[in-house]
Amino acid sequence: MNNKIIRKISGSMKYYICSEIPVRHAFTTKSGGVSTGDLESLNLGFSRGDKRENVIKNYKILSDALKIPFDRITTTKQVHKNDVSVVTEKDVGSGINKPLVWESDALVTNLKNTPIAGFYADCVVSLLYDPVSQCCGVCHSGWRGTAQEVLPRTVEKMRECFNAKPEDIICVIGPSIGVCCFETDADVPEAMEKQMGDIVRPFIHTKGHKFYVDLQGINQMLLEKAGLNKIINSDICTYCHSDEFWSHRATNGKRGVQAGIICL
Ligand SMILES: [Zn+2]
Repeated sequence: MNNKIIRKISGSMKYYICSEIPVRHAFTTKSGGVSTGDLESLNLGFSRGDKRENVIKNYKILSDALKIPFDRITTTKQVHKNDVSVVTEKDVGSGINKPLVWESDALVTNLKNTPIAGFYADCVVSLLYDPVSQCCGVCHSGWRGTAQEVLPRTVEKMRECFNAKPEDIICVIGPSIGVCCFETDADVPEAMEKQMGDIVRPFIHTKGHKFYVDLQGINQMLLEKAGLNKIINSDICTYCHSDEFWSHRATNGKRGVQAGIICL
C-alpha cells in the first residue's frame, strides 16, 4: 500500500483516503453497512439484488461518515466505455434520488457540495482533484475502459470545461485488482495492444500460457503521458485483500459494490 493512503474508521465503517487530497473523499470497503448475505454490508449498488432501502441506508451511513450531502450524491451507469459526463445542477442526484442521467464511465464537476461516485469490485476507480481551478472527477476503468483511455479523457474534460491544468491535478488510483492477481488469457493483452499499441507491453507479464495485466500501472502511465505529476497509486489489490474489499473475481461475481467518491 502507498504510504499516502490512510485507513479510516467511522463507527463500523472502514474506508481509505489519500493524504494528498484535501477535500472530502473516500474509497469504501465492505464494512459498515446494513446489507446481508453476499452483500454484507456496505453495498452501494442498486443492481446487485439488494433491497433498495438497504442501499439507501448504506449511502446515508457513508454521507454521515464523510459529512457530505446525501441528497446531492451523483452517479452514472458504468458501461466500460470512455465517455465523460459533466455534472451540472439539473443532473445532481442522478442514480440515487433521481433516475440515472448518463451511461458513461467518468464524471467531472465544479459544483460545491456535490459528491460524485464511481463503483468498483476489481476495476480501477480513480479520483481527481484540481486545487487551482477547483474541480474534481471520478473515473471507472476496467481493462476495456483503460484500453479506451477513459482516465486521460477525464483529465482532458477537466481542462476543457474548467480550465484545469494537468500539472495541477492530483489523481489517486484506487484499490483494484493488482498485477499479482489479474490473470487473463491472450485475448485481453491482445485487445489492449491492438487499441493502445506497444506502450502497454511493459505492463503485461507472462507466466506459462497465462498473462498478468497491470491495470493500475497502465493507468498511471496514461496519466503521466497526459502531463500529471501528482499521481498516487494506492497499490492495494482487491483480490489479495478480499477479506476487506469485494473482488469480482474472488467472489465469482457474488458480491456488493464499493465506491470511490469525492466532493468539493
Ligand atoms: Zn493481488
